[in-house]
Amino acid sequence: MLTLTSVQRDNIVATCIRALPNEGCGLLLGTLEGMVSEVLPSPNVAESAKLYEIDSRVLLRAYRRSEEMGLSVIGVFHSHTHSEGLSEPDRRGPAPDPTWHYVLVSLRDVPSVIRSFHVTEGVVDEEQISIQPLGPKIGPPEGPRVTAWHPASNVDLVSQESTKPEEMR
Ligand SMILES: [Zn+2]
Repeated sequence: MLTLTSVQRDNIVATCIRALPNEGCGLLLGTLEGMVSEVLPSPNVAESAKLYEIDSRVLLRAYRRSEEMGLSVIGVFHSHTHSEGLSEPDRRGPAPDPTWHYVLVSLRDVPSVIRSFHVTEGVVDEEQISIQPLGPKIGPPEGPRVTAWHPASNVDLVSQESTKPEEMR
């Protein structure tokens, strides 16, 4: 199972919409249990509506960052503009990692559909995606939070939470 927050899901979908008419893509950092802690959008180096290729600089940044944070690069997302399943190149092409989560955003339908798969030697297994309503709860090890809490700051958080991201307006 892949666990995403609603903010991460919106980030993934928005990245794919921005890449139109080409496929959009990016990497997922998180825990080996499949809890995503960070979404790293990437330019589609293939600049294609049928293929995607992650920018090698984003790949490097993802591995550096996962090391810093004690996390792993756990998967990749990309979009299809006219179909809903993984394509032949997605199944075969370049050495799919059986531990990775392959997230696919289909922009064919409105609203868009987001699905996740495991690919083992060309065989595709769909997995469940669990969407959490709140922000990520995981991160680097840290002590107790020292930020003072008062009602006004809580109100701010709530109102920010309900504000739609810029590109959705
Ligand atoms: Zn594809």
